[in-house]
Amino acid sequence: MLNIALFGPPGAGKGTQSEFLIKKYKLFYISTGDLLRDELAAGTKLGKQARDIIAEGGLVSDEIIVQIIEKNIKSNSDANGFLFDGFPRTYIQAYILEGLMIKLNSNLDCLISIEVPEKESIKRLLNRGKTSGRSDDNETVIRKRLKEYKEKTLPVLNFYKERNMYYAVNGMQSIPEVTESVEKIINERLSKKLLNIVMFGHPGSGRGSLGKALAKKYDLEFVATGAMLDEEIKNDSELGRKIKQLYESGQLVPDEIVIPLIEKKLQNSKDVRGFIFKGFPRTLVQSYILDGLLKKYDSYIAKIFDIKVDTLELIRRLDKRSKTDEAMPYDSSTEKIVKRLQEHEDKTVPVIEKYKETHDITEIDGTPTFDTVLRTISKEIENSFKNMK
Ligand code: AMP
Repeated sequence: MLNIALFGPPGAGKGTQSEFLIKKYKLFYISTGDLLRDELAAGTKLGKQARDIIAEGGLVSDEIIVQIIEKNIKSNSDANGFLFDGFPRTYIQAYILEGLMIKLNSNLDCLISIEVPEKESIKRLLNRGKTSGRSDDNETVIRKRLKEYKEKTLPVLNFYKERNMYYAVNGMQSIPEVTESVEKIINERLSKKLLNIVMFGHPGSGRGSLGKALAKKYDLEFVATGAMLDEEIKNDSELGRKIKQLYESGQLVPDEIVIPLIEKKLQNSKDVRGFIFKGFPRTLVQSYILDGLLKKYDSYIAKIFDIKVDTLELIRRLDKRSKTDEAMPYDSSTEKIVKRLQEHEDKTVPVIEKYKETHDITEIDGTPTFDTVLRTISKEIENSFKNMK
């Protein structure tokens, strides 16, 4: 998702720039002003409550705004992203937006402020008033709207400055020049946005080799807890010996060991496009930890795959692997294989169920050949993230 807020005084050119942005980035447009005017025209209860305030150039209450915004976000939660125009307009609304984004399991990418002096705002709005048919585009109301802007809306900028999400654009440039500046900011943010993928699937489903291939293809960092633990075993460290014991008894390695390894990996991966997680999160606790770890990077899980392969085929594959050089210490006997499959069923399936509440999990048939499955997943990734091609 790409979520942007356009900020600026009335008449700054937010509406004009929005037309370009929604087309270019395929965003769903949310202009609280337009939505309120729709409510007004439809004569709804909300519209009636807002009518006098809008006519006087005041700000409609945050309670009304949260209702109309939530309604629109909820019914378009599958959008590529949202473009907010005229929202957030108060400090409270900035918090409301944070909450709405959490609900969508997303975040606001940036706030772009189109800056024009007050004199210019008045000039433009008076001009617009000649054709807009908006009763609030007259001098008395314009002055009140600008007063509200200075007193209640400008402080919102601090909220975003503190979070390094504020970008200013000189609104006195020509329309194409403003567009170009805005586009530059968005593209820069996009290039820094992490694409995080989680690969679910039973042991033997191919999630590891697929994850590795996808990481290579899309220049993502592959985070496989299994491989990190193996590294410790190979180094024959104290930790490694402890892990080996746990493996041999078919148990999961405790979070106290796994989490610091993941954290180190995230910390040490600079300038990456994103991460592909395999074998993590494996438990409900780990899923909360991963959300928290990613939040530290102002990021979140963007895509989840669940590779489906039936149990008999899984056992066949794992059994075959145990007889090759690729055998893992944990697939040395049928008993261990079965125990691992059972662990997945008991602990990881509930994690997938939890994510189903907040994410669209993409189920992939893992039975065809490796190349076919890889192609299917690649298509999914490229459809979801147009800039990955
Ligand atoms: P706009 O079309 O954005 O200039 O908005 C027109 C009028 O709608 C404003 O002067 C306010 O009365 C009201 N309005 C629009 N968005 C908001 C908001 N986020 N919070 C409060 N009032 C708003």
